[in-house]
Amino acid sequence: MTQIFREGLLDETVAIVTGGGTGLGFGIAVEMARYGATVVLASRKPKHLDPAVEELRSRGARVLAVQTNVRDPESVRAMVQTAIDEFGRVDVLVNNAAGNFYAPSAELSPNGWRAVVETDLYGTFFCSQAVHPSMAKHGGGRIISISMTLHYRGWPQMAHATAAKAGVDALTRTLALEWARDNITVNAIAPGPVPTTGAQRAFATGEGNVRPIDETMRRAIPLGRWGTPEDIADLAVYLAGPAGSWITGAVLVVDGGSSLAQPLP
Ligand code: NAP
Repeated sequence: MTQIFREGLLDETVAIVTGGGTGLGFGIAVEMARYGATVVLASRKPKHLDPAVEELRSRGARVLAVQTNVRDPESVRAMVQTAIDEFGRVDVLVNNAAGNFYAPSAELSPNGWRAVVETDLYGTFFCSQAVHPSMAKHGGGRIISISMTLHYRGWPQMAHATAAKAGVDALTRTLALEWARDNITVNAIAPGPVPTTGAQRAFATGEGNVRPIDETMRRAIPLGRWGTPEDIADLAVYLAGPAGSWITGAVLVVDGGSSLAQPLP
């Protein structure tokens, strides 16, 4: 992998990554650890957390996994307290955990709606609120939420996720204003299509097969390739490091131009 930033850029940085055991979250944890951060992976399932911890440790990272349900404020508070007990403070929070599935709005159950909105939006708020005291006490911090671009023009069968991520964008701007006085920057990254396990079904012709970029795909992604976890993770490292110190309230799109182009077929 290409090294974009200087060695040790995130030394002395403690970063929580929700949903850090899989997909983009794991990619962000790997990149942050690579530049020296201590990472705390927070999600529900040991089957996601355990192999991620093992992989990060094998790369020499300082890492802790905490079983967490971001929908539950008590679980979130306990996770943040564990991170503080272990490492003294929290410098960076990456709100990456999310749930998603395609469902026609006319048939979407209240539970389905609630599960996605609570994970994506409530979870982002609960985690941000829980890290605020430690960040404020230690002179500042960085909150980075992983949003999306599908709500810019609407996306059929994604009412729950598009509504939740629109809320994440709004929350980003509001918290940026409220917490600037505490030197906490609050930003979001809006990825385009990155074929992670969680997203694969949306892009695939069949389970596990990512559709190759053909002419139709090129219309949907002008830069002519799917995104990679590193495309997203490098921006997260940038925002977490010194270069991000005067960026707040921004929703930064990293999508190969796809939000400007034709919808995916
Ligand atoms: P993913 O691999 O399915 O990641 C989702 C993660 O969230 C999992 O690690 C899951 O872990 C965790 N999670 C789900 N519910 C949780 C809960 N209640 N509490 C704690 N953790 C929970 O999907 P991904 O594609 O990497 O997506 C990561 C982020 O990128 C999401 O915010 C997604 O909306 C955003 N995004 C992705 C794409 C893309 O194309 N991949 C595009 C735009 C935006 P557990 O099951 O262990 O809890």
